[in-house]
Amino acid sequence: MKLSLVFIALLLWQPTFLFTQNAPEVLPDGGGVAPEVSPGRCLSDADRAQIQAAIDANIISLRAEGKMPAEWTEATTVLSWPLEASPELPFQNYYGISGFVDLDNSFNVIQDYACGFRTYDGHQGTDYFTWPFPWYQYENNYVSVIAAAPGFITYRQDGHYDKSCDWNGNQDWNAVYITHADGTTAWYGHLKQYGITDKPLGATVEAGEFLGYVASSGRSSGPHLHLEIKSPSNGTIDPYFGDCDAQTNLVSWMDQGPLREPTINALMTHDAIPVHSCPGSNESPNFAFQFDLGDPIIVGAYFRDQLLATITDYRILAPDGTEVDSWFHFSEGSYNGSWWYWTRNLPASAEAGEYTVEATYEGQVVTRVFAYGVVSGIDDSDLAKNFRLTPNPTSDRIYWEEDVFMASKVAVLDGRGKLIFQRQTENSPNFVDLTTLPKGLYFLRFETEEGSLTRRVVKQ
Ligand SMILES: [Zn+2]
Repeated sequence: MKLSLVFIALLLWQPTFLFTQNAPEVLPDGGGVAPEVSPGRCLSDADRAQIQAAIDANIISLRAEGKMPAEWTEATTVLSWPLEASPELPFQNYYGISGFVDLDNSFNVIQDYACGFRTYDGHQGTDYFTWPFPWYQYENNYVSVIAAAPGFITYRQDGHYDKSCDWNGNQDWNAVYITHADGTTAWYGHLKQYGITDKPLGATVEAGEFLGYVASSGRSSGPHLHLEIKSPSNGTIDPYFGDCDAQTNLVSWMDQGPLREPTINALMTHDAIPVHSCPGSNESPNFAFQFDLGDPIIVGAYFRDQLLATITDYRILAPDGTEVDSWFHFSEGSYNGSWWYWTRNLPASAEAGEYTVEATYEGQVVTRVFAYGVVSGIDDSDLAKNFRLTPNPTSDRIYWEEDVFMASKVAVLDGRGKLIFQRQTENSPNFVDLTTLPKGLYFLRFETEEGSLTRRVVKQ
């Protein structure tokens, strides 16, 4: 009896709980999948043969010079993660995986280690793409390629164009090749031109040591690392282990990780729709972290492995922590990399201050802070700190000290951020007259060479 009462109570309680989640579903204004970085094989057969011949020849020379051991050890190579993000990276995460090794040798038949199709016909490596804004990451050297295992540099290629957007275009890539003690070799390809390690042929590298930066040299349509593992006899090794990886792994991951890792790579605010394009000069992140009152906030969310039928919850919080906006997004597909954006207008009652946009996805909560109404980096400057509007509150005129603050323009906005009037300040009095305006909250916005500064004023 007691048990069934509890059961009924639960039934009654659950719908109530569901209805309190009152954030609406809002379809994105746009977005889609991350640009494809490698629509086909990253190396031609001829390139691969040339590279293998060079490595084999270099190993013979290095052994003759006593710079490499004469015998290989038993298979021992265990790989650690081959990428490292700079602490300066302004994102929560920075990569996705677009293609594994194609384990089916038949022409036009593909299969990855997990019996799926996340590969390209004849692909002999794994492709890790930087995401989002791969060209912004490239320009800032945000993602380094690091040695996944210790070994000897047995070949290196540099000096080749690294902003390729055309898979068939530039065929020479920049790459570092590390041969491990067991004779297996890791190929790190598509690296940034003149950005690779300056260690010479035959030098040893430790696991985790810097090799280069992620770029788009060679057969590539966007920045990514192609990591290919070769056996001592130049057979392809897939270091991933799974139901469809039939071969004995001479090389494996220390920590392979799941096939899919649903992750928010970044949550950003923008003042214009971000553009993902190729090469760097055509990509426009349009990041913005300061908005004038009344300006729309473009919220962009960037994912790796966003999966079908998963939900992301979004909220915008006012400076005091109260929720001023919320919505959710239901994913209608599964993607290696994806992005979505929403154009949101804060309520008319929203006051100036630091707001926070928050996204919750698969147990991760990521936030991004933006300034609303209190615009510009000069807010912290000495000029801004010394800047006073007097009297405030006022019943008519409000004054500023001209010699403290050089502004080219002053604007009066109402409490909702709507422009009432503006004028130049040069050769004009250092006050505005609010006499004719109704009582209430207003904002004065000053434009200077260093940015704009907005201050609250009260008309009595
Ligand atoms: Zn590749």
